[in-house]
Formats: sequence, C-alpha cells, structure tokens
Amino acid sequence: MDEKEKLNVMLFPFLGQGHLIPMGDMARALSVRGVRTTIVTTPLNVPTIRGTIGKNSEIEILSMKFPYVEAGIPEGCENTESVPSPDFIPIFLKATAMLQPQLEHLLLQHPTHCLIASAFYPWASHSAAKFNIPRLVFYGIGVFAMCASECLRLYQPHKDLSSDSDTFVIPHLPGNIQMTRMMLPDYAKTDKYTEMLQAIRESEAASLGVIVNSFYELEQVYADYYEKLQGRRAWYIGPLSLCNQLQEKGKRGKEASVDEGEILKWLDSKKGNTVVYVCFGSIANFSEGQLREIARGLEDWGQEFIWVVRRSHKEWLPEGFERRTEGRGVIIWGWAPQVLILEHQAVGAFVTHCGWNSTLEAVSAGVPMVTWPVSAEQFYNEKLVTELLGIGVPVGVKKWARIVGDSVGSEKLEKALNRIMAGEEAEAIRNRAHKLSQTARTAVECNGSSSSYLTDLIQQLHSIAG
Ligand code: UDP
Repeated sequence: MDEKEKLNVMLFPFLGQGHLIPMGDMARALSVRGVRTTIVTTPLNVPTIRGTIGKNSEIEILSMKFPYVEAGIPEGCENTESVPSPDFIPIFLKATAMLQPQLEHLLLQHPTHCLIASAFYPWASHSAAKFNIPRLVFYGIGVFAMCASECLRLYQPHKDLSSDSDTFVIPHLPGNIQMTRMMLPDYAKTDKYTEMLQAIRESEAASLGVIVNSFYELEQVYADYYEKLQGRRAWYIGPLSLCNQLQEKGKRGKEASVDEGEILKWLDSKKGNTVVYVCFGSIANFSEGQLREIARGLEDWGQEFIWVVRRSHKEWLPEGFERRTEGRGVIIWGWAPQVLILEHQAVGAFVTHCGWNSTLEAVSAGVPMVTWPVSAEQFYNEKLVTELLGIGVPVGVKKWARIVGDSVGSEKLEKALNRIMAGEEAEAIRNRAHKLSQTARTAVECNGSSSSYLTDLIQQLHSIAG
C-alpha cells in the first residue's frame, strides 16, 4: 500500500497513567502494522506517551491545551495522578469534557479514518459523527469488570440491602460473584454516576465497537457474555504491554526514579521467585499509618522485596527500617520500571492494588499476586484474580477507599506473603500463573487470538475507509 492509501487513526487516551500507557502501547501495535497513528494529549502527558512509544518516530503526538482556568482546577493537574485529592475527580472529568472543541479542531486539521477514544469521553462519538468517521471505545479495564459494572447498573442489587457489609450476588453475571456494598466505589451509589454510565453506554451504542486490553482466553466467558449483553462488537487485542515488549523490552510510561540497570543488577543477584514486588499504581493514596503497617509487614516477613512509594519524604518510616532491611529490601521513591521488574525471574509475587494494567502485566509475566484493591473497579479485578483465575490471594481489604487508612495491619500482609510464596497452595498458584503467561504470550504472537483480532480490526477499518 502506498503512503496515500495508508489508514490514519487518531488515539485520544484519558488523562491518567493507566490509560496513556496502554494507548501508547496500542499506537505502537498499530504503527508496526502500517497504520499511520496519531495520539492526542495535553503537554504534561506527552512524556508518558513518549516513554511508551519509545523510538518509534512514525507515531505523531498532537498536543492540546488543558483548560485550567475555565474548569477552575489548579495549574499542573493534568492527569489523575496529579489531582490534589480524589474529591477533585468530578471537576477533573468536567475539565476533560472541555477538550471537545480542541479535539474537533484537530480532527478538522488532520483528516483521519477512525477515532479511538477512551470510554471516559462519551462525547467523542458525537465528535467522530460530525466528521463522518467511526469511533471506537477504549476501556482501560478488563471485560469481567465491564460486565460486573454493567450488571450492577442494570439490576442495582446493592440498593435494597440493610447494611453495607451484607453480601449480594451480582445478578445474571456468570460465576456467582459475591460482593458487599462496601466494595463498590462511593460514586457508584450516586445518580450522577449512573448518568455517566448511561452516557458511556449511549456513546458505545453509537460507536463501531469496543477495544479491550485483554486477551480472549483470559476472560472468555465474560467476552461472550459482554457481546450478548451489549450487542456490540469487541476486539481483544492485549496484553498491550506484551505487544510492546515484542518491540522494545520494558520501555513504558514515565522516566523511572531509579537506574534501571542498577535495579536489574540487584535482582540478578537474587534467586528465582524470592523477591516480592510491592506497588499500588499511579493514583492510590495511602495514609502514613498504612505505609508504616506495610513497612512492618515487610520487615516481619523477613525476605526480599522491592517497594514503590509515591512520597518525597520518609519521616513516617519506622525508625531504623532502612538499616535493618539493607541488602534485602529496596524502596523506590516515585516511579518504578514496573514491567522490567515483573518480568525478572527473581520476582516471585506482586502485592498490587489490582489496577487493570498492573493485573495484566502480572498475568503476562506469570507472577502470582497478593491482591490489595483500593478503588475504581479494582475489587472486581481482585475477584477475577483470586476466585476465577486462581492466581492470587487476597490480603483481606473490605472497603473501597479514597484515602487508605490503616485498614490492613502488618500481620495480614505477612500472612498473605507467606501464603503466596511457600507451600503447596503457592506452588499450585504459581503453576497456574505460568500457564496463563504462556497463553498471554501465544495470544500476541502471529496468528494468536489478540493478533488475529488486531488484524481483523485493521481490515474492518480499511473496508470502511474504502
Ligand atoms: N507503573 C509503573 N511504575 C510505577 C507505577 C505504575 O510503570 O511505579 C505503571 C504500571 O506498569 C501500569 C500503570 O503504571 O502500566 C498503572 O496502571 P494501573 O491500571 O495498574 O493502575 P492505576 O495507576 O491506573 O491505578
């Protein structure tokens, strides 16, 4: 195909690390298949995109201004990671909606055959329709969580309970999944949220379909159920982090706060499956009391760890912690090269908040998980990991949280670490995790399920573009 006939696709990720990174990965996957790919974002998010697309110079990045003043949001809050508190999220969402005129201006200036926009931009379907091009919806979550949240929206089983701790089964969702109201996001109980989901559903109905960062074999039952439930086409093209690794090993997201070579050297000096990696993503907000409990849990457990802490000061660390754990523990202050760490053979378990990207990265690397969900759809992901896939154990969090107080004591963490690292149960979990990792790798290889979905998607777009 000559340059003129090339398919042009515009990607518009939501402004959070957990969306920018997988969409950067997707841009690379499309670009290596000859699709001319453009990513639209705001200036402060460009480094994350650049860090993910790496040396691929074929991908164009277009920048738009973030409407601080108009939205009444503090300067610098250009992604979910930098909003001062979770209470700012509704204003932040409003601010992102103000990007619509700029997006449409860019669509006018850069004619494109398809707009792939995050589900959090329901209005993007109208924008695409104005230019007579198809819109695809990108969800930053897995299809099990998509189905669970849709069944809750439709059937509202949590509305009639007498207490937040009563259990209920998610109606019509395969797998007999039990939840409590405490595990649901605060906002999920509000009418505003139901309205937002409704808007997302409507925009999905007006779209060509949905792109999911997952692989069919991982959530097969739910992939089939979703198509029945929504009647929309879905393409399962993940794990996108693995598509990226096929090209440039481990390079993703922001610049790491540590020397990658040093951390790999440290891991090289450890035996296989002995190190625990602890990281809670880019948004989760832990109190100092909770961080201290984690420190105590890691210290009492007594084995090797890498712990990522999103703080710039360390007064809250128990007195003498660094001295006592020297040689067996590393704290990364800021941002870790997560995929590089997870893929190292020394890493034996991942204590995770169950953000979808982290979950999928652990699945890809075959690393068992200690699940510590915090917010958003993470409690659904925990169910998938622990109950449906059997590749993790729960630390025992009971409640969705805006700021994580000391809900998990050090002894709970120590117990979960012992359970995931040694003994018969741990071995069975590790075997299942390894098998699943192989399936994930096969999915992204030539003729694998994800690779075939991507081929099909590109063909469809070609046939629409004419
Ligand atoms: N991540 C990373 N280093 C860190 C923290 C996070 O590379 O120190 C990456 C991680 O690999 C994943 C993304 O940031 O790709 C976080 O997305 P996820 O969906 O797991 O969680 P969120 O940050 O959206 O809560």
